[in-house]
Amino acid sequence: MTTNEQWICPRCRVAAGFVLKDQGAGFLATPYQEGKFRKHTQGDPTAPVNSRFDEIDRVGYQQAVANALDLGSIQVDQHGRRNIFHAVNRPTGSTVTAAGETTMVSGLKVALPNEPARIHAFPYGSSEIPSRKCSQCGGQIPW
Ligand SMILES: [Zn+2]
Repeated sequence: MTTNEQWICPRCRVAAGFVLKDQGAGFLATPYQEGKFRKHTQGDPTAPVNSRFDEIDRVGYQQAVANALDLGSIQVDQHGRRNIFHAVNRPTGSTVTAAGETTMVSGLKVALPNEPARIHAFPYGSSEIPSRKCSQCGGQIPW
C-alpha cells in the first residue's frame, strides 16, 4: 500500500508522535555508519554524485546528527519511510558530480532515523526539495 508523501514540521513533531533520540551509542557505532561517514567526508569515487561535508570531525558529525534528530522536519515518504531534513543556515558541504560540477548546500538529511545502527546523515541542499507544508498545522516546512 502506498500513500502520499507527508511532511511534519519541528513544532508539530512531538504531538504527532515523532520523538527521535540519540540512543546513547552515538552515530558512529557500527561499520555501516563508519562507512557512510567515510563516504560523506572523503567521497566515493564510484558514486555518480558525491555529497560531502566541509571540514567535519567525528564529534562534529555526531553533534550535527543529534541536532537534526532533535530539530529537523520529518518527511514520511509514500512507502512510510522516514527521513529528517534540517536546515542549518550555514554551509554544511557540497555535492559534486562525476563531471566536477559542485553545488554548495546548507542543509542536512538524516536517513534511517528509525534504525539506530544505520542512522546516518549527509549534506543536502534546500533547493532540492520543493516548497512543502506541514500535514498537521499547514505551516511552511522550514527548508
Ligand atoms: Zn506543523
